[in-house]
Amino acid sequence: MAKRRRSQAHLAWWTGIAAVAATAAYAGTWRVWALAVLAWSMYELCFCPTTCGVATRDGTVCRNPARGRLFACTGVTAHQHLKTDALWHLPGQHNPLSRLRPPGVGAPAAHRKAPLTPSPAEHGYVERNQRVMAYLAVASVVVTTIEAAVGLAVP
Ligand SMILES: [Zn+2]
Repeated sequence: MAKRRRSQAHLAWWTGIAAVAATAAYAGTWRVWALAVLAWSMYELCFCPTTCGVATRDGTVCRNPARGRLFACTGVTAHQHLKTDALWHLPGQHNPLSRLRPPGVGAPAAHRKAPLTPSPAEHGYVERNQRVMAYLAVASVVVTTIEAAVGLAVP
């Protein structure tokens, strides 16, 4: 039952996105394309049925169902925190929120990235394709918003 409802919602979203995209192709204006891109991004980030994708301490990936690329499963409370943390933790970059901490707290910066064995559970780890889709959707929203702002400023 729940599965059927979910696939119907899934279908409704794709039908809606396809309809907007078709309108955009017909109208040929960037405004409608922007709407289609935004609808797709919102769907990917917040609504699409996916799996949790958080790697647990022993290296196995959580397969519990989740809603949207930004969200983890509801079964394990810690997974949401780990997923948010992992998505913010871009390669070669620290969590931007952690920079808000006053300097001098914790280990010196030079030593921070040199643990003997990096523990995946400490920083969290999310499946590669989940991260790629999440970043892609966020990038689409940013690009579309900038384009819309520029388009409105310069008629
Ligand atoms: Zn999970």
